[in-house]
Amino acid sequence: MFHQAESVHTSGADTIVSPGSAGRLTDRYGRSVDYVRIAVTSRCNLRCVYCLREEHGSSSEEGLRFDEITRVIRVLADCGVRKVRFTGGEPLLRPDIVRLVREAKAVTGVGTVTLTTNGVLLDRHLDELVQAGLDGINLSFDTFDRERYRQMTRRDLFPRVRANLERVVGEKGLKVKINVLVLRGINSDELQRFVELSRDAPVTVRFMELMPFDDHQIWRTGKFMGAGKILESLKAIYPEMEESRGRSTEYFSFSLPGYAGGISIIPAFTRNFCSECSRLRITSTGRVMNCLYAREGADLLAVLRSEAGSGGLEEFFRRTVARKPRDGREAGGSAPRTSMSEIGG
Ligand code: SAM
Repeated sequence: MFHQAESVHTSGADTIVSPGSAGRLTDRYGRSVDYVRIAVTSRCNLRCVYCLREEHGSSSEEGLRFDEITRVIRVLADCGVRKVRFTGGEPLLRPDIVRLVREAKAVTGVGTVTLTTNGVLLDRHLDELVQAGLDGINLSFDTFDRERYRQMTRRDLFPRVRANLERVVGEKGLKVKINVLVLRGINSDELQRFVELSRDAPVTVRFMELMPFDDHQIWRTGKFMGAGKILESLKAIYPEMEESRGRSTEYFSFSLPGYAGGISIIPAFTRNFCSECSRLRITSTGRVMNCLYAREGADLLAVLRSEAGSGGLEEFFRRTVARKPRDGREAGGSAPRTSMSEIGG
């Protein structure tokens, strides 16, 4: 049944296309993949304590080249992938990021193209990105306090990012989500301030649990604040908060009466939505991860740089998706990994 061609509307044009001609990418459990997250670099201009060491290497070598990324998107779109997210590292450090967005948007079948960014370089790129057709931005921003920001990111860039946040929130036609990593005793007293961002603007504020993907293993230091605890704190401030049906990664999703935006809580350990997983991740080193908790990915770079044509590439993705583990436990569990900067979150 998954091999039937389907009709979808592309967002860039009103034409009806039938991109599923290659047949969807499905796994043993009947899930099909329609979402790819591509870490386009492992370089970053921040050094968040929960993510990277100060001495993180800043190699100028990218894993995947522009033409390789766009080729991958075309093959995936032909197999039913509709959503593309660029992440990193910091994706805005890629000199060709605007071109990547434009090219991805032009691929038949691709509906939405989004970006996860720390926001440092948005003043330089926002207008061009919007013109290129970017549909949404997830902006990672953990504190409203300049000194805390400096301590958490090891960079004194708060005023710039704060100003960029204002710009993004005010940008019409862009779906904006604010990613807030909640750390007990560090920014856990700022939840209300974040929620208030959603009062007048249609943004989603997403409170995230710390995952064990960081160089310093900060998650071992008592800073972890679980989804249940985050929820309890929010309910104490907003007893009128209403639960709405969560999206597949947003275990808890809420709205507040009269608020333009919404609130989500993204659990790491308490996840129970693997049965709905429709995503594939491509790391900054050119490996395909069929699960966030997979121990090692499949070597996409080698396939791309071999003689394999589009058919070979498609076959590689088919095999990788077919082996998608049922859940994180089957994938190998929560074995700590070097840093989220390679997987892109
Ligand atoms: N540089 C971009 C940014 O800051 O949004 C994209 C890459 S960053 C790795 C993507 C997301 O991963 C960010 O929202 C960040 O907060 C999150 N992240 C990094 N390390 C994490 C960890 N140990 N646990 C949970 N989230 C983490």
